[in-house]
Amino acid sequence: MIQIKSEAELATMREAGLVTAAALAAVREIVAPGLSTQDLDKVAEDVIRGAGGIPSFVGYHGFPATLCTSVNDEIVHGIPSPGRVLKDGDLVSIDCGAIVDGFHGDSAITVGIGDISAEKAELLRVTEESMWRGFAAARLGGRIGDISHAIESYIRSQPHPSGGDWGIVEEYVGHGIGTELHQDPQVHNVGRPGRGPRIEKGLVLAVEPMVNLGSRFTRQLDDGWTVVTADGSLSAHFEHTFTVTEDGPWVLTAEDGGQSRLSSLLAATG
Ligand code: MG
Ligand code: MG
Repeated sequence: MIQIKSEAELATMREAGLVTAAALAAVREIVAPGLSTQDLDKVAEDVIRGAGGIPSFVGYHGFPATLCTSVNDEIVHGIPSPGRVLKDGDLVSIDCGAIVDGFHGDSAITVGIGDISAEKAELLRVTEESMWRGFAAARLGGRIGDISHAIESYIRSQPHPSGGDWGIVEEYVGHGIGTELHQDPQVHNVGRPGRGPRIEKGLVLAVEPMVNLGSRFTRQLDDGWTVVTADGSLSAHFEHTFTVTEDGPWVLTAEDGGQSRLSSLLAATG
Protein backbone atom coordinates (compact mmCIF):
# COMPACT_ATOMS: atom_id res chain seq x y z
CA MET A 1 0.00 0.00 0.00
CA ILE A 2 1.23 3.49 -0.81
CA GLN A 3 1.39 5.68 2.32
CA ILE A 4 0.68 9.39 1.78
CA LYS A 5 2.18 11.68 4.40
CA SER A 6 0.66 14.82 5.91
CA GLU A 7 2.65 18.05 6.21
CA ALA A 8 3.39 17.21 9.85
CA GLU A 9 4.57 13.72 8.90
CA LEU A 10 6.79 15.17 6.18
CA ALA A 11 8.34 17.45 8.80
CA THR A 12 9.10 14.40 10.95
CA MET A 13 10.55 12.58 7.93
CA ARG A 14 12.77 15.61 7.33
CA GLU A 15 14.10 15.19 10.88
CA ALA A 16 14.79 11.51 10.24
CA GLY A 17 16.44 12.52 6.97
CA LEU A 18 18.71 15.03 8.66
CA VAL A 19 19.79 12.52 11.31
CA THR A 20 20.57 10.02 8.55
CA ALA A 21 22.51 12.72 6.68
CA ALA A 22 24.49 13.63 9.80
CA ALA A 23 25.46 10.00 10.38
CA LEU A 24 26.67 9.60 6.79
CA ALA A 25 28.54 12.91 6.94
CA ALA A 26 30.33 11.77 10.10
CA VAL A 27 31.34 8.50 8.45
CA ARG A 28 32.50 10.27 5.30
CA GLU A 29 34.61 12.57 7.46
CA ILE A 30 36.60 9.76 9.08
CA VAL A 31 36.65 7.03 6.43
CA ALA A 32 40.28 6.17 5.58
CA PRO A 33 42.63 3.27 4.91
CA GLY A 34 43.16 1.15 8.04
CA LEU A 35 39.66 1.59 9.47
CA SER A 36 37.36 -1.41 9.57
CA THR A 37 33.78 -1.32 8.36
CA GLN A 38 32.80 -1.93 11.99
CA ASP A 39 34.59 1.30 12.94
CA LEU A 40 32.34 3.13 10.47
CA ASP A 41 29.28 1.43 11.93
CA LYS A 42 30.12 2.62 15.46
CA VAL A 43 30.43 6.24 14.32
CA ALA A 44 27.06 6.12 12.53
CA GLU A 45 25.31 4.48 15.47
CA ASP A 46 26.69 7.08 17.91
CA VAL A 47 25.47 9.97 15.74
CA ILE A 48 21.99 8.49 15.33
CA ARG A 49 21.52 7.62 19.00
CA GLY A 50 23.08 10.93 20.07
CA ALA A 51 20.42 12.74 18.05
CA GLY A 52 17.66 10.72 19.73
CA GLY A 53 17.10 8.46 16.72
CA ILE A 54 17.13 4.69 16.30
CA PRO A 55 19.14 2.90 13.60
CA SER A 56 16.63 1.59 11.02
CA PHE A 57 18.58 -1.46 9.94
CA VAL A 58 19.38 -3.07 13.33
CA GLY A 59 17.06 -6.04 13.64
CA TYR A 60 15.52 -5.52 10.19
CA HIS A 61 14.85 -9.17 9.24
CA GLY A 62 17.65 -9.88 11.71
CA PHE A 63 20.27 -7.53 10.22
CA PRO A 64 22.92 -6.99 12.91
CA ALA A 65 24.24 -3.45 12.31
CA THR A 66 23.50 0.25 11.82
CA LEU A 67 25.12 0.42 8.38
CA CYS A 68 25.33 -1.76 5.34
CA THR A 69 28.96 -1.53 4.22
CA SER A 70 29.61 -3.01 0.79
CA VAL A 71 33.20 -3.04 -0.47
CA ASN A 72 34.34 -3.20 -4.12
CA ASP A 73 32.36 -6.01 -5.85
CA GLU A 74 29.79 -6.00 -3.04
CA ILE A 75 26.72 -4.13 -4.25
CA VAL A 76 24.50 -3.81 -1.16
CA HIS A 77 23.76 -5.31 2.27
CA GLY A 78 27.36 -5.96 3.34
CA ILE A 79 27.65 -6.56 7.10
CA PRO A 80 30.13 -4.36 9.01
CA SER A 81 32.96 -6.40 10.50
CA PRO A 82 36.12 -5.72 12.52
CA GLY A 83 37.97 -7.98 10.08
CA ARG A 84 37.03 -5.95 7.01
CA VAL A 85 39.77 -3.32 6.97
CA LEU A 86 39.61 -0.70 4.23
CA LYS A 87 42.65 -0.15 2.06
CA ASP A 88 43.84 2.40 -0.45
CA GLY A 89 41.90 2.15 -3.70
CA ASP A 90 38.83 0.41 -2.26
CA LEU A 91 35.29 1.55 -2.97
CA VAL A 92 32.90 1.30 -0.05
CA SER A 93 29.16 1.80 -0.24
CA ILE A 94 27.76 3.04 3.06
CA ASP A 95 24.00 2.68 3.46
CA CYS A 96 22.35 4.19 6.53
CA GLY A 97 18.85 4.53 7.93
CA ALA A 98 17.49 6.30 11.00
CA ILE A 99 14.09 6.38 12.68
CA VAL A 100 12.82 9.56 14.35
CA ASP A 101 9.37 9.55 15.96
CA GLY A 102 8.43 6.43 14.02
CA PHE A 103 9.49 7.61 10.54
CA HIS A 104 12.51 6.41 8.57
CA GLY A 105 15.23 8.12 6.57
CA ASP A 106 17.33 6.04 4.12
CA SER A 107 20.44 7.20 2.28
CA ALA A 108 23.64 5.77 0.83
CA ILE A 109 26.93 7.02 -0.53
CA THR A 110 29.83 5.23 -2.16
CA VAL A 111 33.27 6.62 -1.41
CA GLY A 112 36.75 5.91 -2.68
CA ILE A 113 39.39 5.09 -0.05
CA GLY A 114 42.60 7.07 -0.57
CA ASP A 115 43.54 7.28 -4.23
CA ILE A 116 41.17 5.64 -6.70
CA SER A 117 41.57 5.16 -10.45
CA ALA A 118 39.82 7.36 -13.01
CA GLU A 119 37.62 4.39 -13.90
CA LYS A 120 36.42 3.99 -10.32
CA ALA A 121 35.85 7.73 -10.00
CA GLU A 122 33.74 7.67 -13.17
CA LEU A 123 31.65 4.79 -11.81
CA LEU A 124 30.90 6.86 -8.70
CA ARG A 125 30.14 10.00 -10.70
CA VAL A 126 27.77 8.33 -13.15
CA THR A 127 25.90 6.44 -10.42
CA GLU A 128 25.41 9.49 -8.21
CA GLU A 129 24.46 11.79 -11.07
CA SER A 130 21.85 9.31 -12.31
CA MET A 131 20.12 9.58 -8.92
CA TRP A 132 19.94 13.37 -9.20
CA ARG A 133 18.60 13.06 -12.75
CA GLY A 134 15.88 10.85 -11.29
CA PHE A 135 14.87 13.49 -8.74
CA ALA A 136 14.92 16.22 -11.38
CA ALA A 137 12.49 14.18 -13.53
CA ALA A 138 9.92 13.85 -10.73
CA ARG A 139 6.83 16.08 -10.99
CA LEU A 140 3.53 16.13 -9.11
CA GLY A 141 1.14 14.35 -11.43
CA GLY A 142 3.98 12.52 -13.15
CA ARG A 143 4.71 8.80 -12.86
CA ILE A 144 7.30 6.68 -11.05
CA GLY A 145 8.49 5.47 -14.46
CA ASP A 146 9.64 9.03 -15.22
CA ILE A 147 12.21 8.66 -12.43
CA SER A 148 13.28 5.18 -13.56
CA HIS A 149 13.65 6.31 -17.15
CA ALA A 150 15.72 9.37 -16.20
CA ILE A 151 18.12 7.20 -14.17
CA GLU A 152 18.50 4.57 -16.88
CA SER A 153 18.81 6.95 -19.81
CA TYR A 154 21.44 9.07 -18.05
CA ILE A 155 23.59 6.03 -17.25
CA ARG A 156 23.30 4.64 -20.77
CA SER A 157 24.19 8.05 -22.24
CA GLN A 158 27.56 8.09 -20.46
CA PRO A 159 30.58 6.47 -22.13
CA HIS A 160 31.88 3.46 -20.17
CA PRO A 161 35.58 3.94 -19.34
CA SER A 162 36.54 0.54 -20.79
CA GLY A 163 34.20 0.76 -23.75
CA GLY A 164 31.70 -1.81 -22.42
CA ASP A 165 28.22 -1.32 -21.03
CA TRP A 166 27.33 -0.22 -17.53
CA GLY A 167 25.51 -2.91 -15.55
CA ILE A 168 22.39 -1.39 -14.01
CA VAL A 169 21.28 -3.68 -11.17
CA GLU A 170 17.62 -4.71 -11.51
CA GLU A 171 17.10 -7.18 -8.63
CA TYR A 172 17.26 -4.43 -5.99
CA VAL A 173 15.27 -1.23 -6.34
CA GLY A 174 14.19 1.99 -4.66
CA HIS A 175 11.00 2.11 -2.64
CA GLY A 176 8.38 4.05 -0.80
CA ILE A 177 9.38 4.88 2.77
CA GLY A 178 7.60 6.16 5.88
CA THR A 179 6.54 4.28 9.00
CA GLU A 180 8.28 1.27 7.46
CA LEU A 181 11.71 1.25 5.85
CA HIS A 182 10.38 -0.37 2.69
CA GLN A 183 6.94 0.47 1.34
CA ASP A 184 5.20 0.55 -2.01
CA PRO A 185 5.79 1.58 -4.69
CA GLN A 186 9.00 0.09 -6.03
CA VAL A 187 11.24 2.53 -7.89
CA HIS A 188 13.12 0.63 -10.57
CA ASN A 189 16.37 1.96 -11.97
CA VAL A 190 15.33 1.10 -15.50
CA GLY A 191 11.96 1.86 -16.98
CA ARG A 192 9.69 3.75 -19.28
CA PRO A 193 8.34 7.26 -18.75
CA GLY A 194 4.63 7.69 -18.14
CA ARG A 195 4.32 4.26 -16.49
CA GLY A 196 3.68 3.24 -12.92
CA PRO A 197 1.98 4.87 -9.94
CA ARG A 198 1.36 8.59 -9.96
CA ILE A 199 3.68 10.93 -8.07
CA GLU A 200 1.45 12.81 -5.68
CA LYS A 201 1.86 15.20 -2.80
CA GLY A 202 2.89 13.36 0.36
CA LEU A 203 4.49 10.41 -1.45
CA VAL A 204 8.00 9.78 -0.11
CA LEU A 205 10.47 7.64 -2.05
CA ALA A 206 13.99 6.30 -1.56
CA VAL A 207 15.73 6.34 -4.94
CA GLU A 208 18.84 4.18 -5.11
CA PRO A 209 20.65 3.36 -8.36
CA MET A 210 23.21 0.53 -8.18
CA VAL A 211 25.62 0.41 -11.11
CA ASN A 212 28.31 -2.18 -11.92
CA LEU A 213 31.37 -1.69 -14.12
CA GLY A 214 30.61 -5.16 -15.51
CA SER A 215 27.40 -7.10 -16.04
CA ARG A 216 24.23 -6.25 -14.12
CA PHE A 217 23.85 -9.72 -12.62
CA THR A 218 24.09 -10.36 -8.88
CA ARG A 219 24.71 -13.17 -6.41
CA GLN A 220 24.05 -13.40 -2.68
CA LEU A 221 26.81 -14.66 -0.37
CA ASP A 222 26.31 -17.47 2.14
CA ASP A 223 25.94 -14.95 4.97
CA GLY A 224 22.39 -14.47 3.69
CA TRP A 225 22.87 -10.73 3.22
CA THR A 226 25.81 -9.55 1.14
CA VAL A 227 24.96 -9.08 -2.55
CA VAL A 228 27.91 -9.13 -4.95
CA THR A 229 28.32 -8.72 -8.69
CA ALA A 230 28.14 -12.11 -10.39
CA ASP A 231 31.24 -11.33 -12.47
CA GLY A 232 33.30 -9.80 -9.65
CA SER A 233 33.22 -6.32 -11.18
CA LEU A 234 33.13 -3.17 -9.05
CA SER A 235 29.83 -1.64 -8.04
CA ALA A 236 28.54 1.71 -6.74
CA HIS A 237 25.35 2.69 -4.92
CA PHE A 238 23.86 6.06 -4.04
CA GLU A 239 20.56 6.75 -2.32
CA HIS A 240 18.48 9.60 -0.98
CA THR A 241 14.96 9.83 0.44
CA PHE A 242 12.86 12.50 -1.27
CA THR A 243 9.39 13.88 -1.83
CA VAL A 244 7.86 16.25 -4.37
CA THR A 245 6.14 19.49 -3.35
CA GLU A 246 4.56 22.27 -5.39
CA ASP A 247 8.03 23.83 -5.39
CA GLY A 248 9.65 20.70 -6.82
CA PRO A 249 11.76 17.84 -5.44
CA TRP A 250 12.76 18.05 -1.78
CA VAL A 251 15.56 15.68 -0.77
CA LEU A 252 14.91 14.89 2.87
CA THR A 253 18.27 13.20 3.48
CA ALA A 254 20.34 16.07 2.02
CA GLU A 255 21.20 18.86 4.42
CA ASP A 256 20.29 21.55 1.86
CA GLY A 257 17.23 19.64 0.65
CA GLY A 258 19.11 18.87 -2.55
CA GLN A 259 18.94 22.43 -3.82
CA SER A 260 22.62 22.83 -4.72
CA ARG A 261 22.52 19.77 -6.97
CA LEU A 262 19.02 20.24 -8.33
CA SER A 263 18.92 23.94 -9.20
CA SER A 264 20.96 23.65 -12.41
CA LEU A 265 19.28 20.40 -13.47
CA LEU A 266 15.81 21.85 -12.98
CA ALA A 267 16.77 25.07 -14.78
CA ALA A 268 18.00 22.98 -17.74
CA THR A 269 14.80 20.93 -18.03
CA GLY A 270 12.39 23.77 -17.27
MG1 MG B 1 19.38 2.34 1.98
MG1 MG C 1 16.58 1.96 0.49
